[in-house]
Amino acid sequence: MSSSQVPVAVLGATGSVGQRFISLLDDHPWFKVVALAASDRSVGQKYSDAARWVLDTPMPEYARDMVVVPATTESVQAKIVFSALHNEIAKDLEPQFAQAGAAVCSNASSYRRAEDVPLLLPEVNADHIHLVKEQRKNRGWNGCITTNPNCTSTGLTIALKALDDAFGVKKVFAVSLQALSGAGYPGISSLDIMDNVIPNVGNGGEEEKVEWETRKMLGKYMETLEPPSSAALHGSASQGTPPGARVELADIKFSAHTNRVAVIDGHTVCASVELGKSVEPEVAIQALRDYAAPLSARELPSSPRPVISVRNEADRPQPRLDRLTGKGMTTVVGRVRRDPILNLKFVVLSHNTIRGAAGGSIYNAELLVNENLL
Ligand code: NAP
Repeated sequence: MSSSQVPVAVLGATGSVGQRFISLLDDHPWFKVVALAASDRSVGQKYSDAARWVLDTPMPEYARDMVVVPATTESVQAKIVFSALHNEIAKDLEPQFAQAGAAVCSNASSYRRAEDVPLLLPEVNADHIHLVKEQRKNRGWNGCITTNPNCTSTGLTIALKALDDAFGVKKVFAVSLQALSGAGYPGISSLDIMDNVIPNVGNGGEEEKVEWETRKMLGKYMETLEPPSSAALHGSASQGTPPGARVELADIKFSAHTNRVAVIDGHTVCASVELGKSVEPEVAIQALRDYAAPLSARELPSSPRPVISVRNEADRPQPRLDRLTGKGMTTVVGRVRRDPILNLKFVVLSHNTIRGAAGGSIYNAELLVNENLL
């Protein structure tokens, strides 16, 4: 490990998202993987024996002989801990790592709704990362928890951000077609999904996540100075109480339907949107193409290049053809057209285990480093 590299670990390293982490962290310019953790099923085995590798790129050499360790703060010593754990496990373990001083970059939903935990898409809301200062103050830990959203909200939120900045977004009606890898490994039985569409993801919880998480990410980050304390007013303190920070949810009405389809990777979402003003599709396309990430999130190793790619063909985006655009970090939009009831409709595609999970967490970690928040 070069002296400038940050030691990182992956919790849930053998699973669907964990494998993406292993792959994306191979030769990462800033991060060096020092520990791989999973359940008792895998602990003590070489990673190459414990993981049933499902990616279509080879397992990176660095990981093959690493011995899988338990997901405890004693066994995993790293400055950044990537969490690909299920929610109920993450809920207990992630605070333990933050308490021990690690920056936890999580894919789980356990803390996405916490007021002092950033829910991040750096190309949308990089400023929300500063919530970790509030979190450290509130919780008295030196580490932190940052989260990325559910993989269905990811591409949709990025497209909506471009439209919201340009025209304002008032209402969204969205229908998802979600890939199988989003259900983890081994996921859904082939007899359930072949020749089929399942109109229910995550036992209904997914729709609520899409409707709520999008509003948090598009919400406004506010730092407020509390009224000065009486000590400050009476001259015995030089300043008021420290600023508090929070995110005000975006005022957008949202309705989502979520469906599982027989695609391996890549979540497609068909969206209809009411904008603050009526615009021609060509004008909306230009706004989507012109959208740029906030300055602090533009030149990081995982920054999507471009943030949004707009396809002109009548039958794109398609998961098989478009999910690896920009190494899987670019959001691909197509079929931008007039909506007869709302203003505009379009299709958006995002790679669920890259931009929607492991790649997104790594991008969040790079932002933490760039903002000196480790
Ligand atoms: P998965 O394929 O089922 O993998 C789960 C991982 O957790 C495995 O490595 C498993 O290890 C490990 N694990 C299970 N119990 C454990 C324990 N008690 N202690 C430590 N490790 C344990 O799940 P996934 O799809 O990768 O999802 C991981 C998380 O990411 C979930 O919270 C999910 O909601 C979220 N997420 C997933 C996606 C996606 O596209 N898949 C997108 C966004 C967010 P063993 O192999 O040893 O059992």
